[in-house]
Amino acid sequence: MQKPKIITNLPGPKAQKLLRKDKKYISPSYTRSYPAVIEHGEGCWVWDVDGNKFLDFNAGIAVCSTGHCHPQVVEAIQKQAEKLIHMSGTDYYYPLQTQLAEKLVEITPGGMNKRVFFANSGAETVEGAFKLARYMTKRKYAIAYLGSFHGRTLGALSLTGSKVTQKQGFGPLLPGIFHIPYAYCYRCAYNLEYPGCDFACIKYIEDQLFKKVLPPDETCAIFIEPIQGEGGYVVPPPGYFQKLKELMQKYGILMIADEVQSGMGRTGKMFAMEHWNTMADVYCVAKGIASGMPLGAFIASASLMSWPPGAHASTFGGNPVCCAAAIATIKLLENGLVENAAKVGAVIMKRLETLQAKYEVIGDVRGKGLMIGMEFVEDSISKKPLTEKRNAIIYKCFEKGMLMQGCGANAIRFSPSLIVTEEEAHTAIDIFESAMKSVLR
Ligand code: PLP
Repeated sequence: MQKPKIITNLPGPKAQKLLRKDKKYISPSYTRSYPAVIEHGEGCWVWDVDGNKFLDFNAGIAVCSTGHCHPQVVEAIQKQAEKLIHMSGTDYYYPLQTQLAEKLVEITPGGMNKRVFFANSGAETVEGAFKLARYMTKRKYAIAYLGSFHGRTLGALSLTGSKVTQKQGFGPLLPGIFHIPYAYCYRCAYNLEYPGCDFACIKYIEDQLFKKVLPPDETCAIFIEPIQGEGGYVVPPPGYFQKLKELMQKYGILMIADEVQSGMGRTGKMFAMEHWNTMADVYCVAKGIASGMPLGAFIASASLMSWPPGAHASTFGGNPVCCAAAIATIKLLENGLVENAAKVGAVIMKRLETLQAKYEVIGDVRGKGLMIGMEFVEDSISKKPLTEKRNAIIYKCFEKGMLMQGCGANAIRFSPSLIVTEEEAHTAIDIFESAMKSVLR
């Protein structure tokens, strides 16, 4: 059985040397929770420059869907790099881009009559989808959620409603974006309880927003994260998205699913929207699509994606090497990894629920597949966020040889690669509990 192995103080001497240089040359806007200086990776494991071995339970921020350096992905990248590295898919044709588009159309809900636009990142994907929605509907306004994260380019940032530091100093942002509370039942903005609430949060959109400030017939789209990611791994209750879709359809407003984090099998289904049997009009994917190579895509019906040449394009989007990595990734996802995400996710969830029953500071455990969040609170009545303790637990995990990340004000996310085994999951939860115990003692 593989275990983490910490052989130096952390950060070790080589890591310290690099950290000094990094401080000098890298933008200080980056957000590092602990000084992990990684040298190589394999599966769910990474080694730092001093030879310390860590269990990576975050998969490069939910990106390395097939684990670090999966041999089939590496082979696909190497083979393609020898043949053609770049051509610019918006100006030329090459087989891999078309082949990947066909595959994405096949695996995205909604039949084969769809089209794909390729970008390089999550933010760019959301930007493009936003432009498509405005262009095709000729409507200017949009709805997004408090707590949402859609990226840091100016359009995506305007939609983002996660942390004020992400927006401070960057205004004016895009006008005409209205943020509403997410279906965050653990902290309901309306102080109601599901299912007795009867989706008051959706009624609010029609009864308040649409009547008082936002003309629905001038609204192009609502941007949804099927599970809110950076905002705290928040899972809406059953029926929420169906109801929301009904309302949006009534007013001709497009539903744009930002599946940048929740898509590509992470939740135990290829797309998280499948958990709610609700179809979005546009699907945005990035992160896990190419196991770490930079690629994003948005997918919409052919009738919706019918803008003219020149309306939108990208030099690097759909780069052949990234497409090769994505094709290899999707093959692996279809051949068992999506199922594995559901299976091992259930094991993790069960163990975390057992921890929740044991520790009062664990206020909520929620998620689907391998997208699981745990919220830390002072007590179950006040639900006061325990941000510093959350941060300390993440740091302690690092010291014990496991990489974790936070989300929201006081949550920790469990988002390992989709190749994670049950044995690795048990190792992770054991380390996690021991880190928690040392911080809480
Ligand atoms: N959308 C969601 C849901 C995300 O989680 C992220 C990144 O965390 C983004 C968009 C932005 O992606 P990127 O950092 O690749 O621009």
